Amino acid sequence: MAQLIDGKKTAEGIVEKIAAEVEHLQFKPGLAVIIVGEDDASQVYVKNKVLKAKQCGFKSVKHHMDESTSQADLLYMIDSLNKDESIHGILVQLPLPAHIDAGAVIQAISSKKDVDGFHYLNAGMLATGAYEKALVPCTPYGVMYMLKQVHGDDMAGMEAVMIGHSNIVGKPMVQLLLNEECTVHICHKATRDVKKHAQQADILIVATGVPHLVKGDWIKKGATIIDVGINSVEIGDGRRRLVGDVDFDAAKEIAGAITPVPGGVGPMTIAMLMMNTLKAACVINNVDIPKI
Ligand code: NAD
Repeated sequence: MAQLIDGKKTAEGIVEKIAAEVEHLQFKPGLAVIIVGEDDASQVYVKNKVLKAKQCGFKSVKHHMDESTSQADLLYMIDSLNKDESIHGILVQLPLPAHIDAGAVIQAISSKKDVDGFHYLNAGMLATGAYEKALVPCTPYGVMYMLKQVHGDDMAGMEAVMIGHSNIVGKPMVQLLLNEECTVHICHKATRDVKKHAQQADILIVATGVPHLVKGDWIKKGATIIDVGINSVEIGDGRRRLVGDVDFDAAKEIAGAITPVPGGVGPMTIAMLMMNTLKAACVINNVDIPKI
């Protein structure tokens, strides 16, 4: 039976450690979250982020803009937050309404305050190995934190398979794995035999949005399985349940360690957003980044 990697508990520990560090700082880290429109899921995500920032002892502000907000008005808001010295992290909740160019909005955020890690400068630093300086996208950052809990600092030479190659999860995850000197294989929807690749993995990370894509017989005995997927599926009588991209019940019998869904990668993503805000605030204020 696999070791359960408890993301919820780890994330709570990170938030507590950040709050303890913040008490000793000469400044208060500030996180601004912008939400445009009324998307229900986005409202929940933003509420959680604002709450966690408060738990960390940060200044936490939410700007809720109307669905019909123009791109120019949103860019003006970002410009004012870029200049606001009490704000060190800026996050624009995605998705944005269709009339707004999300790419242009993300690139308008100062790379120093880009706590989502989506700015070209941060992506470029990560890709060229300047890992310590970059603001790393929160989900892969959280996955690497969990992998280090299982494997310590020595992942060199391990076979790592990443299923999914999105800009926010798969691609930055690959850079982090390379940084640890893993041998990395990347699969996506055009890969001919994903199962064959998965079966070679010492570390298997799955981020596809396909419920239970990975079956028990895709997994090498003793492998570490990180399930990033969050899928709401019908379980009858109109009821729904959250499941991952991995068949957890089958996988846990074969894997060495595994994340659950929910309670695995999800809470870690928010914790790493807080970590990025602390990191950004320290860099902007020219003080050492605390080791959490
Ligand atoms: P995306 O849609 O941008 O990318 C999906 C990736 O999966 C693509 O690379 C695609 O080629 C690949 N793919 C799709 N079907 C496949 C198949 N049958 N076989 C192999 N590869 C396949 O998705 P994303 O934004 O990276 O998110 C992926 C999943 O992770 C979603 O369920 C999302 O909700 C979840 N997610 C969770 C968190 C978190 O905090 N836990 C954060 C981000 C995303």
